[in-house]
Amino acid sequence: MKPFYVTTPIYYINAAPHIGHAYTTIAADVLARALRLSGRPVHFLTGTDEHGLKIEKAAAEAKLSPKEYADGVSSKFRALWTALDVRPDDFIRTTEPRHEETVRRAFAAMLRSGDIYKGRYSGFYCVSDETYWTEKETLAGPGGAKLCPNTDCQRPLERVEEESYFFKLSQYGPRLLKHYDAHPEFLSPASRASEMRNFVKAGLQDISVSRAKVKWGVPVPEDESHTVYVWFDALLNYLAAADSKNAALWPADVHIVGKEIYRFHAVVWPAMLMALGRELPGKVFAHGWWTVEGEKMSKSKGNFVDPLSVTKEFGVDAFRFFLFREMPFGQDGDFSIASLKRRYNADLANDLGNLLNRASDMGTRYLDGKIPEKLPGTPLIERETHVAAGAAAIAAIEKLDFGMALTVLWASVGRLNQWLNEKAPWKLAKTDPAGAAAVISELLWSLRAVGCWIAPFMPETSARIHERIGAARSKWPISPEDALPVAAGSIKKGEPLFPRKI
Ligand SMILES: [Zn+2]
Repeated sequence: MKPFYVTTPIYYINAAPHIGHAYTTIAADVLARALRLSGRPVHFLTGTDEHGLKIEKAAAEAKLSPKEYADGVSSKFRALWTALDVRPDDFIRTTEPRHEETVRRAFAAMLRSGDIYKGRYSGFYCVSDETYWTEKETLAGPGGAKLCPNTDCQRPLERVEEESYFFKLSQYGPRLLKHYDAHPEFLSPASRASEMRNFVKAGLQDISVSRAKVKWGVPVPEDESHTVYVWFDALLNYLAAADSKNAALWPADVHIVGKEIYRFHAVVWPAMLMALGRELPGKVFAHGWWTVEGEKMSKSKGNFVDPLSVTKEFGVDAFRFFLFREMPFGQDGDFSIASLKRRYNADLANDLGNLLNRASDMGTRYLDGKIPEKLPGTPLIERETHVAAGAAAIAAIEKLDFGMALTVLWASVGRLNQWLNEKAPWKLAKTDPAGAAAVISELLWSLRAVGCWIAPFMPETSARIHERIGAARSKWPISPEDALPVAAGSIKKGEPLFPRKI
């Protein structure tokens, strides 16, 4: 079976990793974990994008060689993923030989096929940012001047004209539109599709894919006065990583990206693959943006959220949970400590943590701390509803509808709390000990299932729930028949999973 191949973008290392990077990467990790639990082989790729002018400049400022600088920042990304419980199968760097070799080969192949040709680039250049901009991207300044569109900069731009290699993107419009029509899932979520279609329908321009001024990059084959433009270089990582590990990995099943780079992934990348005669990925999914405390994240505001400072206070799992509980994947939302705290106290401390405490306390008190051998023959709870919730959550994750998965699961947790209050086994125990034991057994079984289902989002919490109720972990989807075997073990009292935050 072909492994399900999921990627994040490789991240440009001109900045330290922040919440935006964490969001994309944790999303891919949630999907990968869910598929693995369902028994699907998965290959999850992330990495770092390390060439280009900005890196050359940042390295010079840090008095390092570009490679030394890249080594340092790339390892920060890698360490963050470990800290956030993200487990990629592969981490690619664009400075690795396997990547550079793929870029050279792809460029050479497109030169041979005529998809890349030499021409003249004319556009605008920001000396301060060392970034090229097209006329369309520039801001209008006083007296017809063109200004840098970087909101932190907005300086006057220089018009530049230089020799450059171009990719014949202009000839791929009709094929792209045909592909979008034949594969409605390719542009996801559907709300982003029309923007891409309209962009292609308006007519595509050839794009410059080399730079004469930039030294830190992959040299153009047989013309070392140019390096391959960083975007063209970066996109090829998905192929380089697949081809270097397992030829059967390609095509990717899904590229998860932020909406700011959707056009590159939904238009330029598939056209490049067509030029190379390679299959297209199954889906390119663009998620939305986070604002922070109501404001756009920017360098000038210095309001980038460091995921590690958040997890230090709230824990890794609460952070992972919050990102997908708070806003639908694909839409924009606001990150604030107040809303994180609200979710933490309501959903995690109260609804889930408290339920586990009550279940494990009653398990020790009324069941002698032993996991019940068997569920009551007649379900005491709407067991089918509970099981259906798990299946619905899995299906939602597979569709990248992470918010829906958590909505469904927390509705289940809510029902269990309500049901426990109604059944009140602590009262029942006085008159009907067997009846009380049955209720608690059912509750423990249901919690064990919840523990399975939340694992992709909250791996550590999942393990702690199972440990507390002495239940063996099991594969999902869980069904009532999975009630046994449960490992013989003791139910333990313990500290709250999520101590309330004041
Ligand atoms: Zn600028």
